[in-house]
Amino acid sequence: YPPPSACLSGPELFAGRLAPRAENSHKGSFGDCAILGGAHSMAGAAILAARSAALAGAGRVYAGFIDTPPSYDPPHPEIMCRRAADLDLQRAAVVAGPGMGAGDEARVFLAQALASAAPLVLDADALNMLAADDGLRSALAGRKAAAIMTPHPLEAARLLGCSAADVQADRLEAARRIAAAFNAMVVLKGAGSVMARPDGLAAINATGNPALATAGTGDVLAGLCGALLAQHWPPWEALLGAVWLHGAAADLLVEQGVGPVGMVASELPTAIRSCLNRL
Ligand code: AMP
Ligand code: MG
Repeated sequence: YPPPSACLSGPELFAGRLAPRAENSHKGSFGDCAILGGAHSMAGAAILAARSAALAGAGRVYAGFIDTPPSYDPPHPEIMCRRAADLDLQRAAVVAGPGMGAGDEARVFLAQALASAAPLVLDADALNMLAADDGLRSALAGRKAAAIMTPHPLEAARLLGCSAADVQADRLEAARRIAAAFNAMVVLKGAGSVMARPDGLAAINATGNPALATAGTGDVLAGLCGALLAQHWPPWEALLGAVWLHGAAADLLVEQGVGPVGMVASELPTAIRSCLNRL
């Protein structure tokens, strides 16, 4: 394998892909993103991912809940809150996992998402279900459409059947092994996020800081990946761009005195939007 490239060139990733929006563009031009998650007492994770997708420019965002959906998200009434069963998983870029739980119903919806031809982001409980279920695993391995997996070290350890300490001992190798075994683009999260793809190409991200070490920031990253996929980015570029931008937004908030202490995940999407519009 080639050595990983240091992913210092974030802004270049965006050149051309974020061409000024055409005068005659409409919401359909920027794609649909559907979040699949929000089981009992975990609605916030799905809402964070949905807000992130909306503020990162997806044309329409649907938040699908395993549990009873809220009627809407008060600060963001543009997000369409639905029952998971009422999502159209064919037309949208799908983000499966935030607050999804691992119950029988969640498994059925995850299997549907894996069977769809839409680009797919797999995070959190979707990763935990995949780690424990050979049927879901082969559905992912056999997929034609793109998949992005976003494990933190413990989720990565479950996927590989080893310990989190083993993962952390060689993060590059762990990311490459997951990418090859699951036929997906992977980011192994945490300080110095490592991105890898099934052919072994890898990169290390240079943005971000410990302000991100707080609940919900992973949900925001998953929604951001979904937004870039919805806007028709190829999956590898979407992953590199999302990880870079997520870290850059946290760096901006620290510069503004919002972190590193006490920055919360729900503050990230507006910072992501500021970074995007200034690129
Ligand atoms: P999760 O554990 O799923 O909530 O995801 C946490 C997010 O925050 C990931 O994108 C991590 O890469 C990021 N993160 C957590 N801790 C740090 C850190 N110390 N430095 C940089 N990024 C971090
Ligand atoms: Mg997470």
